[in-house]
Amino acid sequence: LLLAYDPAKRLSRLQVSLESGLVGVRLMYEILDRPSRLLERDDAEDLTVTNGQVVFDNVQFSYGDEETVLRDLSLTMDGNKKTALVGPSGGGKSTIMGLVQRFYDVTGGSIEIDGTDIRQCTLASLNSHIALVTQDTILFTGTIRENIRFGRLDASDAEVEDAAKNAFAHDFIVQLPEGYDTMIGDNAATLSGGQKQRVAIARAMIKNAPIVLLDEATSALDSESEAKVQAAFDRLSEGRTTLVIAHRLSTIRNADKICVIKDGRLVEEGTHDDLNEKGGLYANLVKLQFEH
Ligand code: ADP
Ligand code: MG
Repeated sequence: LLLAYDPAKRLSRLQVSLESGLVGVRLMYEILDRPSRLLERDDAEDLTVTNGQVVFDNVQFSYGDEETVLRDLSLTMDGNKKTALVGPSGGGKSTIMGLVQRFYDVTGGSIEIDGTDIRQCTLASLNSHIALVTQDTILFTGTIRENIRFGRLDASDAEVEDAAKNAFAHDFIVQLPEGYDTMIGDNAATLSGGQKQRVAIARAMIKNAPIVLLDEATSALDSESEAKVQAAFDRLSEGRTTLVIAHRLSTIRNADKICVIKDGRLVEEGTHDDLNEKGGLYANLVKLQFEH
């Protein structure tokens, strides 16, 4: 699938050059190719988000002709609350996050945001209501200011700085040689993993979308950076519907709901305390992580 495809060509067309290691090829593929692969209905309407509730109703999904990835998945992410997805690798967490953004269409069931089937929405309005932060977030060659402003192109310099402050990025940015005008990307200032994440969070912050999707970094950050990234995530989550894929269970203890996904199914859901008490898969995962 990916071989038949030349992401680099498309990217150069967009004049976006990529910092090696930052970009998930699949993510690029999805961002850049989506409009041509997924159809917007003739009668599509702009999505209106009131509460920010996302509902998966009996969702079935497979990539192409490959085996079923999600089976009978019903899941509600309540408006203004934090829902966490945990579970073994390959279980379908990233797929769920991709489906919320309509990177692919479900093969059965439906996904609704505040009661509207997302296949019924214009793609632009769906995009504008969702902010995504992953370790693969694309930072392009340009200034830090431009990279943050990419979240909302008409944002003022003051708004860019506010977003950076809220993302705990301002302090390190002003210490760079050219501050907000420091070039990042190829052949330019190299940011640490934690700093890149905070720039990505600032970009999401400025977008001010009611629904945020966070895929935590799997690779370890140093503990100072880790704490700042976590604080920035928490601030980004405030007052929004948040879906987080957690790799470290300690970061989601305070989630309003934890959903355990295994083999494409929802096998447990509840708060940390509920699930821990229940002594099932989540409790086991906690035990394993604690022991390590
Ligand atoms: P998780 O995020 O829980 O690790 P994923 O959603 O990434 O799980 O993957 C679920 C299943 O879907 C896995 O079997 C994986 O190999 C498969 N998968 C994920 N992305 C693709 C893709 N783009 N094409 C084909 N199969 C995929
Ligand atoms: Mg994943």
